[in-house]
Amino acid sequence: MLDDLKVRKRIIFLFLTFIFLLLVLEVRLYAIMVIKSDFAKEAMDEQTYRSIVYYDGFELKGDIYDANMRKLTNNGIEYKAIILPSAVIKHITSNNSTFENLLRLICDYDKLDYYDMLTKISKEAAGYDQAVVVGINDRIKDEIESSNITGIYVKSGIKKFADDIGASILSNFLSNRMNGEYIKYDDSIDMKIFNSLARHVKKIYKVPLDGRGMLMPGMEPIDETVEESVGGPVGNVMLTLDYNIQKAAEDALHEKSDKNCAATVMNIRNGEVLAMATKDENGWERNMVTYVNDNSAYNPGSLFKIIVLAAALEKNKVGLETSFFCSGVDSETGIHCFNTSGHGMIGLEDAFANSCNVYFINLARKVGPKAIMDMAQKFGFGKKALNFSKESAGMVYRKSEDIEYDIGNIAIGQKDIMVTPLQVCSMISSIANNGMRNKPHILKRIFGDDGTVYEKHADESKSIISPETSEIIQKLMTEVVKRGTGQKASLYCGSAGKTGT
Ligand SMILES: [Zn+2]
Repeated sequence: MLDDLKVRKRIIFLFLTFIFLLLVLEVRLYAIMVIKSDFAKEAMDEQTYRSIVYYDGFELKGDIYDANMRKLTNNGIEYKAIILPSAVIKHITSNNSTFENLLRLICDYDKLDYYDMLTKISKEAAGYDQAVVVGINDRIKDEIESSNITGIYVKSGIKKFADDIGASILSNFLSNRMNGEYIKYDDSIDMKIFNSLARHVKKIYKVPLDGRGMLMPGMEPIDETVEESVGGPVGNVMLTLDYNIQKAAEDALHEKSDKNCAATVMNIRNGEVLAMATKDENGWERNMVTYVNDNSAYNPGSLFKIIVLAAALEKNKVGLETSFFCSGVDSETGIHCFNTSGHGMIGLEDAFANSCNVYFINLARKVGPKAIMDMAQKFGFGKKALNFSKESAGMVYRKSEDIEYDIGNIAIGQKDIMVTPLQVCSMISSIANNGMRNKPHILKRIFGDDGTVYEKHADESKSIISPETSEIIQKLMTEVVKRGTGQKASLYCGSAGKTGT
């Protein structure tokens, strides 16, 4: 009896143990199948997909427009070829001529050596199998797509700039940032435009592979765009530039044989920059480097005589009857007049028309350097005109600086007096606008795709010289074009002008 009970107890115990073990197994299976399924799937994905980053950089999320809503960006599509070494190596070993022709086309287009490319692919196929990503054109794209060669893929759709004026604008004030070279956050106009337009993305192409790491036929690759960072809100930018005027300005420079020159067109009524074209010392055109480069400031030369004159007129230190004697050289500074034999007794009109250095040095002495420098700053000299991050501010003597003024060189705009083409254009605009200075600007507004305006330029205008003073300068400048040193010049903010170096 007792033994019988013992045996029964043991059976029950064994039975319970068995049930318990079964339960444990069930739970474990459940855990694997349900709870851990995400991990299992991921492990599978890693085995069956190869992720290739084929673009890591900035792309435009908005567009740039000119003042008439003409689109300057995203007018083109760019193509890239993605070559997967482990997948194409069989074409190389089997001397597949279609593949060889394609690879030669790609190498020619990218100016790469064909045999270097073969070596690279073979090395990668045997090692890390890193994909080779190269730029291609429409023709090569078509060739690749019609060839049906496995292991080469075409990717398109990276937004880029229009291949003309839009490109010249952007390549000069945005591309440094687009290339990630000068990403430092500041309050510059290019930073503002960049933040509205650009976002940092990684474009990933996922190629399906089988268990042995070979291409899976019949399975569609997956294209992914991973947003790395977004600047401000998605914005489109409207500039004050006018495509047609910009083009006309560039064409005008193109026709001139001169190098190192600039054409700036500004609306004198509101300070909008309509065009800015340059030709540098190498004769390179269709760029705006001069405007956005911190090295681009020049001695204004005789153009600065306008500032001396404005200061003198405002301080009542000069009239049309004021005369000085020009012997050909200023005895105190030793600075010569262009007319080395001297102009003799000369009045304001003739001195301005003939750009007499001796007259203006004497006038500058009478006005005093401080009044001239104050006037220069009122006209915007010594300060960035458009606030590009790398734009030059030029140079004038600052009020606070305890320095010995070099009156001779101030009077004739040499040595430490440095200006930019935009500052000069702004000066002439203020005079043409009867002494009202409108702050130069290039950004009209930033707006969303739905028309929401995020930012709008607010005009800033200020009277800097009296209408009487501007009228006299306007008259003298017109005379320069008519009969003086500026007879050849006509392309400088309208027809009134003043020659300078
Ligand atoms: Zn003279």
